[in-house]
Amino acid sequence: MSEKILLITGGSRGIGAATALLAAARGYRVCVNYRMDEAAAASVVDAIEAAGGTAFAVRADVSRTAEVERLFRAVDETYGPLDALVNNAGTLERQSRLEDLDEERLARIWSANITGPFLCAAAAVRRMSTRHGGRGGAIVNVSSRAAQLGSPNEYVDYAASKGALDSMTTGLALEVAAEGIRVNSVRPGLIHTGIHALGGEPGRVDRVGPLLPMGRGGTPEEVAESIVFLLSEASSYTTGAFIDLAGGR
Ligand code: NAP
Repeated sequence: MSEKILLITGGSRGIGAATALLAAARGYRVCVNYRMDEAAAASVVDAIEAAGGTAFAVRADVSRTAEVERLFRAVDETYGPLDALVNNAGTLERQSRLEDLDEERLARIWSANITGPFLCAAAAVRRMSTRHGGRGGAIVNVSSRAAQLGSPNEYVDYAASKGALDSMTTGLALEVAAEGIRVNSVRPGLIHTGIHALGGEPGRVDRVGPLLPMGRGGTPEEVAESIVFLLSEASSYTTGAFIDLAGGR
């Protein structure tokens, strides 16, 4: 069993919560970050502890430097040196065409989906890189198949933010490859979580799932398996890689 220390951003719901539960079952001590939903974060921590694992929750908006610094300091002080980061927190907004997107919405999407993962990756590298006296580690970025598909008529802004995250995965993986840190990504397709309600269509996975090659949407647990694999020593020679979890699309 691993005794490693893992921070999952947006670990209170959906894919992040499933990853927190699976990683804790594999022996990681887990920091469950969330932005607003304290009860959801507490229920993930309770479930981990009920199963014999170790976890704690920290509220922080990952798109704000001061909050990211406070989040990482909480992990330092509670568990010690970080071994792994899952950049999972992300958001989208109401389905619309590109010509209807305004500056304020674009700023919100870029800050949550791009700035947040950049700030968290930077804080993780400062702790894990052998260049800074660290002992190495692993980062997994939760991107989306939308980065390639573009999400026309729904949220091209969201798709583009995940495209930026994919560039970060490639660049950072090369930047820190010789410093003991692996950086990889998962690109889920349509997964059964609450995020689709933010787009104005809570039942989106049920509508589109049957049209996919595999004929269904995916589960958060299916995504969590690949994230935990990329965090683990089972993928020790893999960096800068992308696992698509999209039912064949
Ligand atoms: P979700 O169920 O809506 O959960 C999102 C999580 O992110 C929540 O824990 C939320 O916390 C947190 N969060 C959002 N903004 C944050 C911020 N600025 N700072 C800290 N935490 C923040 O979403 P999900 O479907 O599991 O999505 C997780 C990731 O997978 C996202 O990056 C998403 O883009 C990606 N993804 C999802 C799908 C899909 O079909 N579901 C497909 C492809 C990619 P609060 O509840 O406290 O706000």
